[in-house]
Formats: sequence, C-alpha cells, structure tokens
Amino acid sequence: MMVQYQKIKDQYPDAFLFYRLGDFYEMFNEDAIKGAQLLELTLTTRNHSSKNPIPMCGVPHHAAQNYIDILIDKGYKVAICEQMEDPKLAKGMVKREVIQLVTPGTQTDTGAAAAKSNNYLTALAVVEGQFGFAYADLSTGELKVTSLTTHSAVLNEVMSLQTKEIVVDQSVSGELIDQFKTIGVLVSHEDAVVVKAELSFATQGVTDRAQKAVLDHLLTYITDTQKRSLAHIQRAVVYQPSAYLKMDHYSQRNLELVSNIRTNKKSGTLLWLLDETKTAMGGRLLKQWLDRPLVDKTAIMNRQERVAVLVNAYFERHNLQEELTQVYDLERLAGRVAFGSVNGRDLIQLLTSLRQIPKVQHVIENLDAPVFDATIDALDPLDDVATAIDEAIVAEPPLSVTDGGVIKDGYDAKLDEYRSAMHNGKQWLAELEASERAATGINNLKIGFNRVFGYYIEVTKANLDKLPEDRYERKQTLTNAERFSTPELKAKERLILEAEEKSTGLEYELFVKLRDRVKANISRIQKLAQAVSELDVLQSFADVSERYRFVAPVLTPNSHDLEIVEGRHPVVEKVLGRQKYVPNDVKMPTDTTILLITGPNMSGKSTYMRQLALTVVLAQMGCFVPAKQATMPIFDQIFTRIGAADDLISGESTFMVEMKEANQALANATANSLILFDEIGRGTATYDGMALAQAIIEYVHNRVHAKTLFSTHYHELTTLETTLTHLKNVHVGAVEKDGELVFLHQMQSGPADKSYGIHVAKLAGLPTSLLSRADTILTDLEATGQQPVVSQATPNNPVEQVTAAEPVEEDGQLSLFSEPVVDSEAVELMAELKKINLMAMTPMDVMNQVYKWQ
Ligand code: ADP
Repeated sequence: MMVQYQKIKDQYPDAFLFYRLGDFYEMFNEDAIKGAQLLELTLTTRNHSSKNPIPMCGVPHHAAQNYIDILIDKGYKVAICEQMEDPKLAKGMVKREVIQLVTPGTQTDTGAAAAKSNNYLTALAVVEGQFGFAYADLSTGELKVTSLTTHSAVLNEVMSLQTKEIVVDQSVSGELIDQFKTIGVLVSHEDAVVVKAELSFATQGVTDRAQKAVLDHLLTYITDTQKRSLAHIQRAVVYQPSAYLKMDHYSQRNLELVSNIRTNKKSGTLLWLLDETKTAMGGRLLKQWLDRPLVDKTAIMNRQERVAVLVNAYFERHNLQEELTQVYDLERLAGRVAFGSVNGRDLIQLLTSLRQIPKVQHVIENLDAPVFDATIDALDPLDDVATAIDEAIVAEPPLSVTDGGVIKDGYDAKLDEYRSAMHNGKQWLAELEASERAATGINNLKIGFNRVFGYYIEVTKANLDKLPEDRYERKQTLTNAERFSTPELKAKERLILEAEEKSTGLEYELFVKLRDRVKANISRIQKLAQAVSELDVLQSFADVSERYRFVAPVLTPNSHDLEIVEGRHPVVEKVLGRQKYVPNDVKMPTDTTILLITGPNMSGKSTYMRQLALTVVLAQMGCFVPAKQATMPIFDQIFTRIGAADDLISGESTFMVEMKEANQALANATANSLILFDEIGRGTATYDGMALAQAIIEYVHNRVHAKTLFSTHYHELTTLETTLTHLKNVHVGAVEKDGELVFLHQMQSGPADKSYGIHVAKLAGLPTSLLSRADTILTDLEATGQQPVVSQATPNNPVEQVTAAEPVEEDGQLSLFSEPVVDSEAVELMAELKKINLMAMTPMDVMNQVYKWQ
C-alpha cells in the first residue's frame, strides 16, 4: 500500500494527499506531521514495531470537507485520492486515483459565508513583453481576459480581484513571482497546454497572442485540478481596463469601498451601505460593479435610467424584492449541474427560482418603461427545463441521490412497478405480523428490518415458550429478545430487497438523465442569472437611493464643471445619523482645479474628500448620489493619498509610500482625473514637508490639471491662492460656543483662521499677557519668512511684498514653477529644485537639501 501511496504522492508534491482508506482519509509521512499540526489531529504511526514507523494521521471521510477548507484557507492544496473499486470485490491492491486537486483558487464549496463574493483563480503569461492576464470563478463559470503592460498594473489587478492563487508559466519573471508571494498569493506553475475539447470553445474569438496563451494555461490548470465536467465555463470575455474608472488597489482600500480598513470586514463600507440585494448573485455583481465603475456615458445612463424608474415605482420595487427573495443562486447551481454534484434539493431550488421568473417579468412589464425592454427579453423562464424538473422530482427530496425517494410516482412506468412491488411487500409484512400474532397469541411480536440480518420476527424472551418449534429459524439473539425468520418471510424478503435495489438504481438513472438535460441548458441558465443579478443590483441602488435621499447626478463628459450641492458622505451619515451630519457643497467650476482645504484636525477634511470620491464612484456605477443636486464630469481615474495605508508589498516607510502614491498620481493623472491628497508631506519634517506639498500643488496646477482636493495643516500654503489662478482656498468653519470651539464640519470659502491655536488657548483661560506675547511671536515668525517660498502673506493681506509675475508659458503649457520670481538667487534655487530627483532621495537627503537652500 505504501508503494501505491508514494507513487501517487510523487505526482502531487506540493499538496496534502488525502488517501482514502475505508472510512478515513489518511495522511502519511511529512503530510501527516504537518497536517496533524495544522488540523490539530493526533499523530500516530503505522508499523510502529518496525525500526522506521511511518507517521500517520487521518480524518473521517464524512467530515473531510471541514478539514479541507481549513487547509485551503491557510493557502495549501489538497489532493483527494479515492478508492476506485469496492475493496470487497478488488483482487489484490484496491485501485486508487486522485479525483480532484482542491486549491485556494479552485475551491468551490465555500459555504454560505462566501455566497456574496467571487473566488477568482487568476493567471499570467508574458508574450513579447505583453502581459496576458485572465481570471475565472469556477463556481459560476465566469471567465475574463485582458492585456496589461506593466508590473504594477498586474499587481493591481491581482490585488483588486483579491485572488488567492495565480497560475503562471515559465514566461513570468522571478521578480513578479516573488511579489505575488509577498502579498500572500499562492503561485501555481502550469507549463503544459492541454485544453480539453469541452473547453476549447472558451477561447474562441480571442486573437491576441498573450491573451490566448494565458487562457490556455489557465484552462489547462483547471482541467488538471478538477478532473470533472466543466460544462459551465463560459466563453472568455475580453475586457479593457480603460473601459472602467481606474483606481489602484490602495485607493480602493483607502476609500473603504468593499472592506473596512481597520476590521477588513464589510461593515462600515460603501458596499455595506449599498447592499440591499436579495440574491447571492446580485450581491456578487454589486461587488464587481463597485470594483469597476464605468466611464462610458451611455452605459452609465442605461443603469441610471433604470434606477430612476425603480426609485419612482415604490410598489413594483417592493414586489420585485419579494419575488427575488425566492430566487436561489442560479449561477452556482449551474456550476454544480456541470460538476455533476447537484442533488434533488438543488433541482428543486432551480425549479423554484425558474418559477419566479414570470412573476419578475410581470413586475417589470408593469413599470411600462422602454429602458427595461432588454431586461424583459433576457428574463427567459426556461419553461421547458422547469417543467422537466417539476414532472420528475418530488417536492421535498432527500439529500442523497442514490438512496431513492427523489423521483415522483407516475413519472416512469418501470419505477412505478418496482415501487408497487415494494409497497405490496410491505403490506404483506404488516399482514404477516397480524397473522403471526394471532397464531401464536404473542401480542408484542413484531416484524422488523436491519441491514445485516434483513427482515426478522422479533419475540421477547418472556414469550419464547409460546412459539411453536417447527417453522422458526433463529437469526439473532438480543438481551431481551430473539429474532427469527421463516421460509415465507425469506422469500418475500428477497422480492422486496430486489425491488428496492432496482428501484433506487433506476431512480438514479432517471435523475442523471434529467441532470444531463439541465446541463444542456447551462448557458441559458447563466444568461438568465446575469439578467436577474443586474435587476437585483439596480433595485438595490433604487432602494438605497430612496432611503438615503440620493439624487440622479447630471453627467457632462466633456466638461470640467463639478458642482455638488449639499453633498454627504453616505457611510459616515448612516453611522452618525441624519441629524448630526452636516452636508457640504463642492464647487469646482471649469476654471477651478484645486481646492486647498485647511482646518484643524478632526474638523472633517478627509471626510469631505472621501465624500467626493464616493460620489464619483456611485455616479459612475449608475447609482444616484448623496446630494441635493450634482453636476459632474465623467472621471477616468481616481488617485488618493489619504491616511496611513499599510504597505503590503515592500514594507517601506510611510513617507516613502506617501511619496510613491503621490508619484503615481502625478505621473498618471490626466485633466479628467480626480486626485485626493490628504496632508501630503506630513510624514517628514516641517520644512521639507511643506516644500514638497507646495511643489506638488504647483505641479498639479500647472501640468496635470486634474481636479484635486488637497488638505493641509501648513497654513502658509493658503497664500498660493493669490498666484495659482485655478486654486481656491476652503476651510472648515468653527464657532465659539459656551467657551468652547465647536467644529461646524461646514466647508467655507477662504483659508482657516491661522491663529486657531492661540484662540483655543484663550478659551482655555491662559493669561492675557501670555496670549499677546504668543501673538507677537506669531507675527515675528511670519515676518522672518519661515516659509519655503511665498512669505509675508496673511489671509487678509495677501502677498503684498511679492511681485506676482504671470505664469510663464512653455510649449503652450504652463511651466512647472511659475510662481512669482523674486530675484536671481531664487531663480537659481528653483532651477536646482527642478533638477533634483525626489524619488531617488531619502527623506533625510531632502531635509538636508532644503536646509541648505534655506
Ligand atoms: P480631519 O480629516 O479634518 O482630521 P475627519 O474628516 O477625519 O477630520 O473627521 C473627523 C470626524 O468628524 C469624523 O470622524 C466624523 O465623525 C466627523 N465629521 C466629519 N465630517 C462631518 C460632517 N460633514 N458632519 C458631521 N460630522 C462630521
């Protein structure tokens, strides 16, 4: 046996081998030692008397799934090795084979907890410098492919999809593989290309070489691991990342779209607020839409218009929700049909779901809205499939499909015959019991059945003497009773058991036939699932939009006019309660690109910034937005540098991460992008921080032209408004109330009151002489020019000593440093500053350099 074991194990060196031995899956050797530890099992040995006993541990086969899940969750693979013949009938060694290799990316039995998220297996192949990138969800059959051009784009997709496993071939560099491993993604190698005929259609229509290569490897890996039917894998959909609002993984995390930064849970996220979906597939689609908002106005409006109809149709919406509640997970049911793992209950779920479709269709027709025409067409109730299931399967079938009781009476004549034989036999047994009681006078005599002894007549010990000697043959002795058989009982037993066996055998055959018929219709079920999920997400948008008083945004793709009236951060508002939340406007007409936000800590600056980003995401997903009124352009990308994002990849310093994120934005943003910079420069010493902050603002203002919100506690930067024509100051207002300073969380135009600290000190009752001394010091500090470039300005007396020069035009573009030129020394200094490569310097170098200049 160990020879057989080792032969199989050698084929799966990187997986735990679950080796079926009777009622257990056993692990041996290294697998056993590691497995016992990970699964908290008792480690024993085989051949303990020998010199080298073999370490061993096992799990009962009926509880195996739990243990498999634990190992998969920890990022391991499990090869399930079954007995391929009945040990009782086998000659010699029982034949064994690995029937499935379960891996983190191919796991489909993920339980109810994961119903609303996809489990994506990703793959990467490099052809002539192009990255072919593909992903599949084995439980639903979804398959997507695209081309990417940079390492960071690949890493970004991998992180956004939250994949646990990536399949690579030898074209992928060791550097990338190391990066995947650092972010906790299991890397599986697949160099062969053997795509099963069943899957060859999946790549039809894909012409790009890198895309074709990656699909071939991905599909080969799927075939190799699954070893089962994959009829539900859909034809690959080629997607273009440029068709979606681009957000890197950090921004998605920072904005808490689907996972809370602190808890990593759904609670407190935009997904949490938006998820009023009634089906698991709707829940998954919502998450997909959140990950990829759109940029095409027609596509956005198609969703928005349907949401608008549903917002206004209160009753229909509620009816729709009720009907959807009874629709099961069609996508995953289709997957189980393909795998051959559906049981009677699954088919009843499918039937129940299909029977809901005409009702859903009816509700939508009642809306009488042409935007829903395509939806109505797509809602195919698969009447033929539903009827076939309805005719065959009983209303409440058992879990098992091999023990009978699944198929309805009257469905198949032969089955009915067997069943009546069984039934008659049982009737006969009841009669026999009665007649035996009468004949012997033993009133508690009974007829029973067990698997080992078959049918028997049971008589208690006390009554044994009443039994006539002749006909009764002893079968079994219990403590208080004896069990007997008789020739008549034996004959009938054979008939009954035979009928039973034939009946269950035939039932299974009929069931498989029906399952195959459903399987032939998988792509129709998948199309229906898509239509239902979409409808579910749209009704969820409508529900949330009405509940939280959202409005339809007006989208103006070719303008740069952004105006939001009384906008809100929907999640903070939900948490705080409607009364406590203070709405805010965002006014950035075409000629305003930067809002410089000042205000003390905890006044609401970052909430205001996030609020805008969430509003953009919502609008471009096709949802309404939390505001009284909103006009906005369609953004191509969102960049954020908010709060402290933990750096997963390199473990670099926070400041380095901050600078890298800033660089991402500066290098890639366009005039159609949105940039949110929260307190950039805070991560280093005051002067170089402030210098960088100002340089970044100027760069965005003069070169990038993206709509930018920039919050800062460097009050000195507010004077930039006088020189940068597209920059506006806003601040968070505060009032004095009962001797305390209260934040209004209200954005107001102009810079914040810079003597805020002294103001607080005054409220705290510090001596008047001290306060006026502080005032003098403040004025002195300003007068000595402790600011990097623009000096001696006060909010009410802006930059008088500085001669403002017009920004210099270079090649039709504004030059990088077009702030007022004071003298030649400054010109020199600026030239130097322009030359230095910030990204190649350590924070300390920057500090020293700025110190030198100063
Ligand atoms: P900052 O970025 O200025 O330090 P935050 O944006 O983190 O401040 O906000 C601090 C707290 O103030 C938030 O946790 C929130 O509870 C509250 N807050 C922010 N904006 C508002 C608002 N518009 N209305 C009511 N409360 C708000």
